[in-house]
Amino acid sequence: MSIRHSHLKDLDYSILQQCMHCGLCLPTCPTYDATKLERNSPRGRIALMRAIADDQLAVTPAFGEEMYFCLGCLACQTACPAGVNYAELFEHARAEIEETRILAAPNRSVIRWFAIKWLFMEHARLQVAGLALRLYQQLGLQKLVRQSGILKLLPQRIQELESFTPTIQPGFSDEIIAPVTPAIGKRRYRVAVLTGCAQDLIFSDVNRDTVEVLAHHGCEVVTPPGQSCCGSLHAHNGEWTLAQKLARRNIDLFPPEQFDAIISNAGGCGSHLKHYAKLLADDAAYLPHARRWDVKVKDIHEWLFEVGIEPPPANLPSRPTVVSYHESCHLSHGQKIVLQPRALLRTIPGLKLVELPEANWCCGSAGIYNLTQPEMAGALLERKLKHIQATGARTIATANAGCLLQLISGAAQRGLKLRVVHPVTLLAEAYRNA
Ligand code: SF4
Ligand code: SF4
Repeated sequence: MSIRHSHLKDLDYSILQQCMHCGLCLPTCPTYDATKLERNSPRGRIALMRAIADDQLAVTPAFGEEMYFCLGCLACQTACPAGVNYAELFEHARAEIEETRILAAPNRSVIRWFAIKWLFMEHARLQVAGLALRLYQQLGLQKLVRQSGILKLLPQRIQELESFTPTIQPGFSDEIIAPVTPAIGKRRYRVAVLTGCAQDLIFSDVNRDTVEVLAHHGCEVVTPPGQSCCGSLHAHNGEWTLAQKLARRNIDLFPPEQFDAIISNAGGCGSHLKHYAKLLADDAAYLPHARRWDVKVKDIHEWLFEVGIEPPPANLPSRPTVVSYHESCHLSHGQKIVLQPRALLRTIPGLKLVELPEANWCCGSAGIYNLTQPEMAGALLERKLKHIQATGARTIATANAGCLLQLISGAAQRGLKLRVVHPVTLLAEAYRNA
């Protein structure tokens, strides 16, 4: 009789045992805050995972739904005094759910197969889809469809999803960034920049700004075409084997020994990219490379802070630009990068940084959570936008494609005059203006 591999039962038991049930994480958990139910809290979820590992509970649809109600925001990880590795538990729990097929349903399977297993596995496919959408938008068809009122004939859910359609950039990263960008002045470092999957289509301008800023810091920047997704979408949605495949591809494309740093400018991607060694722990051939890779991966703010942020020459506007900063969950809770983006913003002449209340509370984007759990995601977005408006800032900076998109869509739906921008773009603009 074959014994099925179980992610939770085969997990290092000490990780499951770490939770001492103190409850300090509860007030920081957005789902617990919304429902006040123990099962919607980190402590409750960990207890369920442990019960499965102990064979006291089967993997049920209720468990599956609970783990997909969790945002994976990792606020609980920051709050936890016992150092519980919730990120690892969360990914193994979702992998267990997918491998047992406990939530399998025809619609769900088709959507998952198309998006996660097909579209996001090959970047060329994503670029073809991006080209089609770009054409649809540039020819004015999207505007026409929206103005015609035809969307009102569709179910409410489809209308909501349509309003989240991102604007595709006029050029993808490999169209607007050379494969190798020389350092401005003396070359001090050689770095690679990961241009991402959705980021390449929707925020290739942020990639270009990242490369420009790095060049200002004496970096020769390598951005090869044909890059793959980092695999965080796959790992966070229980597709462990696909996430491993993408990790191997990235390691092959960016041999870590050839670079001083491998730069990510998206909080969600960076948090995943720094843990390839855990993902490839059972792969003897790749594990040594993955360990070297993990050390080389740096978030852009982290790297600039390490090498010393080059302040742009003062070219002061008549009035300071008031900017607030929303922390991407996986940048702050996943990577503990909190001070560096603020330090970067403070170096920009004429920029006044005002603190955002609950800056590290999830905005509801959480990967594809805003698509799968629209009610909870909508409530979190509403809460975030209220706080942003209370600051009086007309510009909100944030460093993750999902957060950028969530806030751009939220502001547009409510008719708010709000510029949503990556901190690195503000720095690149300051260099250009100077
Ligand atoms: S990851 Fe976020 S939503 Fe999930 S248990 Fe932790 S704090 Fe709550
Ligand atoms: S704070 Fe940590 S140890 Fe305490 S209940 Fe939450 S996860 Fe468990």
